[in-house]
Amino acid sequence: MAASGKEKGTVPAVTPMMAQYHALKAESADCLLFYRMGDFFELFFDDAKVAAACLDIALTARGEHGGDAVPMCGVPVHAAENYLARLIKAGHRVAIAEQVESPAEAKRRGGSKALVRRAIVRVVTAGTLTEEALLDARAANWLVAIAEAGGAVGLAAADISTGRFEIACVAASGRDAELARLGAAEIVVPETLAAAPAGAIPFDPRAFDSLAAEARLKALFGVATLDGFGRFERAGLAAAGGLLAYLDRAGQGTLPLLQPPAARVAADHMLIDAATRESLELTAAAGGGRRGSLLDAVDRTVTGAGARMLAADIAAPLMDRAAIERRLDLVRRFADDAALREAVRAALRAAPDIGRALGRLAAGRGSPRDLGQLRDGLDEARALHARLVRLEDRPPLLEEAAARLAGHGALTDLLGRALVPVPPVDAAQGGYIAEGFDPALDDLRATGGEGRRAIAALEARYRTATGIAGLKIRHNGVLGYHVEVQARHAEPLMAADSGFTHRQTLAGVVRFNAPDLHEQALRVGQAGAHALAAEAAHLEELTATALRGATAIAATADALARLDVAAGLAERAAEGGWARPAFATHPCFDVTGGRHPVVESAIAAGGGRFVANDCRLSEESRLWLVTGPNMGGKSTFLRQNALIAVLAQAGSYVPATAATLGLVDRLFSRVGASDNLARGRSTFMVEMVETAAILAQATPASFVILDEVGRGTSTYDGLAIAWAVVEAVHDRNRCRCLFATHYHELTRLAERLDGLSLHHVRAREWKGDLVLLHELARGPADRSYGLAVAKLAGLPPPVVARAKAVLAKLEKGRAATGGLAAGLDDLPLFAAAAAADPPPDPLRAALAAIDVDALSPRDALDRLYALKRAAAE
Ligand code: ATP
Repeated sequence: MAASGKEKGTVPAVTPMMAQYHALKAESADCLLFYRMGDFFELFFDDAKVAAACLDIALTARGEHGGDAVPMCGVPVHAAENYLARLIKAGHRVAIAEQVESPAEAKRRGGSKALVRRAIVRVVTAGTLTEEALLDARAANWLVAIAEAGGAVGLAAADISTGRFEIACVAASGRDAELARLGAAEIVVPETLAAAPAGAIPFDPRAFDSLAAEARLKALFGVATLDGFGRFERAGLAAAGGLLAYLDRAGQGTLPLLQPPAARVAADHMLIDAATRESLELTAAAGGGRRGSLLDAVDRTVTGAGARMLAADIAAPLMDRAAIERRLDLVRRFADDAALREAVRAALRAAPDIGRALGRLAAGRGSPRDLGQLRDGLDEARALHARLVRLEDRPPLLEEAAARLAGHGALTDLLGRALVPVPPVDAAQGGYIAEGFDPALDDLRATGGEGRRAIAALEARYRTATGIAGLKIRHNGVLGYHVEVQARHAEPLMAADSGFTHRQTLAGVVRFNAPDLHEQALRVGQAGAHALAAEAAHLEELTATALRGATAIAATADALARLDVAAGLAERAAEGGWARPAFATHPCFDVTGGRHPVVESAIAAGGGRFVANDCRLSEESRLWLVTGPNMGGKSTFLRQNALIAVLAQAGSYVPATAATLGLVDRLFSRVGASDNLARGRSTFMVEMVETAAILAQATPASFVILDEVGRGTSTYDGLAIAWAVVEAVHDRNRCRCLFATHYHELTRLAERLDGLSLHHVRAREWKGDLVLLHELARGPADRSYGLAVAKLAGLPPPVVARAKAVLAKLEKGRAATGGLAAGLDDLPLFAAAAAADPPPDPLRAALAAIDVDALSPRDALDRLYALKRAAAE
């Protein structure tokens, strides 16, 4: 086989290179392997097929293996980030095998045929990214590890792009809510975990050891006990163990930036389960993107870090009233002072993302530009500090943030002196250390500069000596500096005593070397190499210095983000005329002139006006039953109030003229009959599972919106279920609840349940057309208007007419028997309706639809033919 490979001039099957490839592939079997060959990363075998299809690049072949050609594809190293981004997005993980010695070193080590050593230097996965190009600047990127211990579930989450690290411990039933809050990019679980979330990556169970993890965390943060960071349960520590081991593997031993872990306590936040988050579209819209979500409608932040913090705030509204008021006080400060708000936002806009720059530096993937970003960002922070401390009205959170902005003077001064104004991303070419920072480096640069000037002078001298005006001194990667002349002038230089040595003849030009030139070139080359090495040493030193202050820098980044969030919320409030919410100690929900921020913007974009509505829930009137026509605005009303609760407890102003609420401990939103095939359950099943969860979990401090529960099944079953759910919510859960329904029969419940009140969205029929007023009023809807909406939607007139006839019969029967809700026994009515009046003959309908006066003779003839054809079918 080896021979046949050689005959074809390609690589035989078991070359040392292929052996090396297979060894590396065995180390990273679950990843695509990027195998570095010169200027390319190559992929082979199945990896090549997968990558070529995913990246839409050519699949070629190389050599053979077991008699077959080896599939291969490759991406250029300089463009690798872009290809990596696409592979990671498509759900792949990529191991990077780099050349860890130069070809020259390999030759020195093992002779001319020696294979360059390669090693996996990094495993790139969705949850372990730090590169700007691979990350969304406005979204956090969580890697989450899950472990179970002592009947609880531990979750350890790290965003290594900024070093945020938190550990939580929840009941098994709360796991998915936590995962939904984080929106993890990647989830790691022990192979042995029974019910792993979809897409989770199984990992060595031995890594999830709580005792070893505790010891490692203590060592990592240099503390004798973790108590200073919070209280951590066994399950949480076990999860942290798995997380650290997975990070070890991804970084091949280099642990990225991790701040000390924060202990997350579930009770500190409003509990919002995954289904509710999805249904309310808090941070992502139904389609998956950010557009159309609450976050998108609220976000006016001007920095990536601010956007990330706002997303986290909205995903986890607070339960501590004092903490909420502190956030609101800061928003109020910016809301009251437009000039201050604008000045702070302008300063923030100019500040680079120092959190992410720090993350890259700590992961060993930092560039001179990242240091430049730290310098500029910390400088902006210093200027902002000076401005904020001069203010008179300084709410506590402003004071706290301002204090964290200063204190990096030594580092900013050092970086200011050390770096050029705009340092490059690529350190390889040097040129990022400023002049005057290191005299030795300046000398080397001067020597190089003198050499280059000497070389320029040589050109003139050679021209005079040879009399060849077109003689040039050039430089390239292969020959270095050399003399170049046109072929027709080359002959005199070829002579043995010319002082020139022939190097190369090309079409049209001939190249030479000369002793003086060689000497100067050597000087330039050596000085250049030494200068590069000196710059690299400075880069390393400066990075280490910056990282010693990592915790303080991260705190500054957080303070900038907090200011951005508050100023952004104030901006949003000013834009929309939003109000500061107030909090009561009893479970009320009193909103005047409430609006839905997403629907309102959509309507405003179309030139329309959103109708504001009040919502007044109290202990005496804690359950509102909302009826009214389809498209009347019931769902919108329900959701806007849930969103107001989220915004208020996240520390934002709310889209209303006034709002006072008792804190909401748990928020539930259940919308009937929304498809959820992706989760592998039928619509009705999902609806019932989620309704069951609400009934089991809602407390008197909870807020629940139920939208058309029961719609997913037959009328009687659905009505019966809705009926029983309303009773249970009212009598047992006793939570605040908005319940929208089309079952008018439910309005009867108001007679018995004293905490329930009836409301409807108003509509009017005007000249036979339906006018939706989107206005909430007391009492039940007078009728359902379903047929009017159907007509509005363009249902064919004969169908609407037929539906009207059936409805009239049903209603007559209902009046006779006391109605659906009274006895639930009028099923035969449907049969009666069908028997008494068989569906109209299509020919009759077609005849009836003809407007004879409007027909031309030609049309009349056509219709007649069509009717004859229909009759014959
Ligand atoms: P269905 O019973 O069919 O689910 P619904 O009563 O729940 O309907 P929504 O889905 O809330 O109705 O609203 C329908 C549309 O009406 C919205 O998409 C929006 O365009 C408009 N709308 C809703 N509320 C208002 C409002 N308060 N002011 C102006 N327009 C509104």
